[in-house]
Amino acid sequence: MAKPTGFMEYKREVPEDRPPLERIKDWDEFHCHLSEEKQRIQGARCMDCGTPFCHSGMLFNGAASGCPINNLIPEWNELIYKGLWEEAIKRLHKTNNFPEFTGRVCPAPCEGACTLGINEPMITIKNNECAIIDHAYSEGWIVPEPPKVRTGKTIAVIGSGPSGLACADQLNKAGHTVTVFERSDRVGGLLMYGIPNMKLDKKLVQRRVDLMAAEGITFKTGVEIGKDLPADKLLKQFDAVVFCGGATKARDLVVEGRENKGIYFAVDFLKANTKSLLDSNLQDGNYISAKDKDVIVIGGGDTGTDCVGTSIRHGCRSVVQFEILPQPPMERQKNNPWPQWPKVYKMDYGQEEANVLYGSDPRQYCIMTKKIVGDDNGNVKEIHTVNIEWKKDDAGRFVSVEIPGTEKVWPAQLVLIAMGFVGPEDKALKQLGIEQDTRSNIKADYGKFTTNKKGVFAAGDMRRGQSLVVWAINEGRGAARECDRYLMGYTNLP
Ligand SMILES: Cc1cc2nc3c(=O)[nH]c(=O)nc-3n(C[C@H](O)[C@H](O)[C@H](O)COP(=O)(O)OP(=O)(O)OC[C@H]3O[C@@H](n4cnc5c(N)ncnc54)[C@H](O)[C@@H]3O)c2cc1C
Ligand code: SF4
Repeated sequence: MAKPTGFMEYKREVPEDRPPLERIKDWDEFHCHLSEEKQRIQGARCMDCGTPFCHSGMLFNGAASGCPINNLIPEWNELIYKGLWEEAIKRLHKTNNFPEFTGRVCPAPCEGACTLGINEPMITIKNNECAIIDHAYSEGWIVPEPPKVRTGKTIAVIGSGPSGLACADQLNKAGHTVTVFERSDRVGGLLMYGIPNMKLDKKLVQRRVDLMAAEGITFKTGVEIGKDLPADKLLKQFDAVVFCGGATKARDLVVEGRENKGIYFAVDFLKANTKSLLDSNLQDGNYISAKDKDVIVIGGGDTGTDCVGTSIRHGCRSVVQFEILPQPPMERQKNNPWPQWPKVYKMDYGQEEANVLYGSDPRQYCIMTKKIVGDDNGNVKEIHTVNIEWKKDDAGRFVSVEIPGTEKVWPAQLVLIAMGFVGPEDKALKQLGIEQDTRSNIKADYGKFTTNKKGVFAAGDMRRGQSLVVWAINEGRGAARECDRYLMGYTNLP
């Protein structure tokens, strides 16, 4: 245990983000760090519970709880407290290939499961994780460590998001020769072209990719498997193939007026922005600008939040975020007990920024889009909505019911659809005859990650559906382990 009385002596402290009015002027990260002394005190609060739920990564009543990659949280909390940062990063890297990503973007289900959180503010786990890896990089401890022996086996990983990167990293560590194919011009999947720069600096993604390349992994960008290179040909060239292509088919808004101009999928908006930012600091104009526009974001989740933050940085006139579900409660409800992830109301960075600029949280709850109206040139002009309430039908299912008299018209010159994803693209899957499940994800059992085709594995959003970075890392690691077992007849990968 770090310090037996730590949780009684010290309060939870997280670093203040950069102030909203300052950070919206640039695209730099909004996170800051605590001083080393303060971070060590945060490590001291950990009670080193006999049964640490924080690192359990289990389902309780169908709800995820704890760290999905089973980070050894109490162990590195103690090491931080003692100032043993080098030992801490060794412990952290045992379970997490990319703590600099999760330390910034993970929603931290670990913290929702922290025992201290039952009656006190929980441990600052996510922030401690970020501090460990950032400290390690700044000390120069993170250097290429190529495997000493190569097995001679070759593996193709399709897709370079967190699942593909984690899978490639593990397989390379096991001595296999790994090639990652990515259709985009940059490596990283949604780490690069989904999550905006202010949440995860793209230099950090590139730094990790460069490290992996220096360790012997080959990255081939601008190659779409199934189009530029047929999947069956790939299978002949490599000893095994791992599909990590993500769940990239966006859910569309089926509504009158959808054909108007000025309506985009959130990911297209976010990708174009980051690409232009990296290519030319937004000087090439190759992005969808929200400047001086009334922006409506349809979808109240994290992707919608990223659209809000991006629109604000462009200088939009106004921004509203529609959410079809009710506003979450301020406190945990009885049907959402510890150690489950607490489903409570909170403002994320985009909402905080809108709140400071326009005076309120941009989210409108229980609202449904009825139709979109365009001007004479076919450009979106307004959105018509109605408020709804959720009621149980005769079968006990929740259904939405419109509330008469709540119809409203919203001005909009830019509409961003952030309603989630319906599954993976399947051109390459069809070429190999890979089976898909009822939700169109690749059919491969969790834990085994094998498809119906010998030597072909699947991981990440492409297998489990739209999820989180930390789950993608979990799946990439698992698929690597099973792929290694398939190639060698045994495996030492965790
Ligand atoms: C805007 C946005 C913000 C998000 N924010 C967060 C967050 O803050 N925290 C969090 O935990 N999660 C977040 N998520 C979810 C998270 O990013 C995903 O769950 C995660 O990236 C999935 O990883 P993956 O490796 O399975 O797929 P992806 O990251 O989607 O990567 C798949 C890659 O495969 C490539 N590809 C696909 N098909 C082919 C092919 N045939 N040939 C070659 N390449 C191909 C794609 O171009 C892509 O680069 C966010 C998602 C979005 C959309
Ligand atoms: S990866 Fe996520 S869940 Fe795991 S320790 Fe880090 S913040 Fe917590």
